[in-house]
Amino acid sequence: MKALEVRDLVKVYIRRKSREKLVAVNNISFDVRRGEIFALLGPNGAGKSTTIKMICGLLRPSKGSIEIFGNDIQKDRKSALRHISAVLEGNRNLYWRLTPLENMEYFAGIRGKMLKKAEAFEILKWLGIENKANDLVQQLSRGMQQKTALAVALASDAKFLLLDEPTLGLDVKSSVEFRKILRYLTEEYDKTILLSTHDMNLVEAVADRVAIMSQGKIIINEDKDKLLRVF
Ligand code: ADP
Ligand code: ADP
Repeated sequence: MKALEVRDLVKVYIRRKSREKLVAVNNISFDVRRGEIFALLGPNGAGKSTTIKMICGLLRPSKGSIEIFGNDIQKDRKSALRHISAVLEGNRNLYWRLTPLENMEYFAGIRGKMLKKAEAFEILKWLGIENKANDLVQQLSRGMQQKTALAVALASDAKFLLLDEPTLGLDVKSSVEFRKILRYLTEEYDKTILLSTHDMNLVEAVADRVAIMSQGKIIINEDKDKLLRVF
C-alpha cells in the first residue's frame, strides 16, 4: 500500500471581492511510497503549500482525490488524517506562549494520546533540545523552534510527516543537522516524509524522489539520482 496517492488534484482560489479565480494547483497526480522522503520542489507560488494544506486536511480540494494509507480524505477524513502530522511553514501550528513540553502534551492530547513525560523527554533528547523543554517557544532560536515543531509531530506517533519548507530560515549548521534528522526518521523509525522546498541542496541531501512544481503543475516526477544526472 502507498503512503499517499494524489489523483487529479485541483485547487482554485476565488478572490472574495473580484470573484477572480486563481488555479493554484492544476490537476496534479503523484504517489509517495512508504518509508521514503518525497520532495515537492519549486519556486514561490508554485502551489506547494496549497498541496500540503489539502493533504493535511486544512483546505478542501476543488477536484481530485487524496488517499493516505488507503483512506480517502474526503470519504473517511478521520482515518486518513490519523496517520498524518504536519509542520506548516513558519511553525504556525505551535503555541508560542507555551513550552515545547506543553506543546507536545497539548497536541498529543488533541489526538487522544496521554503523552508520558518520559516519552516526551526521550523525543526532546533525541532532537538535542531536552534542555529547552521548559522554555517558552517564542524565546527559542528558529532552529530550536523547528525542532520543537518536529517534536510535536513525533509525539503524536504519526507515521507520515508533512513538512512545509522545513529548512527555511535555518542557518547552515541547523540546516545540515536537520537533514540528518530527516534521514534518521525514515531509516531508523520507518517514517514517511513529504516535504516542500525551493532548496535544491536539501533535495540533494535527503530526498529519494522529487516532483518539480511550476505554476500549479508537476512538470517532472523522478528518482532524485536520475534527476541529478540530468543537471
Ligand atoms: P508555494 O507554496 O509553492 O509558494 P502556494 O501554494 O503558497 O505556493 O501558492 C500558490 C498560488 O496560490 C500563489 O499564486 C498564491 O498567491 C496563491 N494563494 C495561496 N494561498 C492563497 C489563498 N488563501 N487565497 C488566494 N490565493 C492563494
Ligand atoms: P504560504 O503557506 O505559502 O505562506 P499563504 O497562505 O500565507 O501561503 O500565502 C501565500 C500567498 O497567497 C501570499 O502571496 C498571499 O499574498 C496570497 N494570499 C494568501 N491568502 C490570500 C487571500 N485570502 N486572497 C488572496 N491572496 C492570498
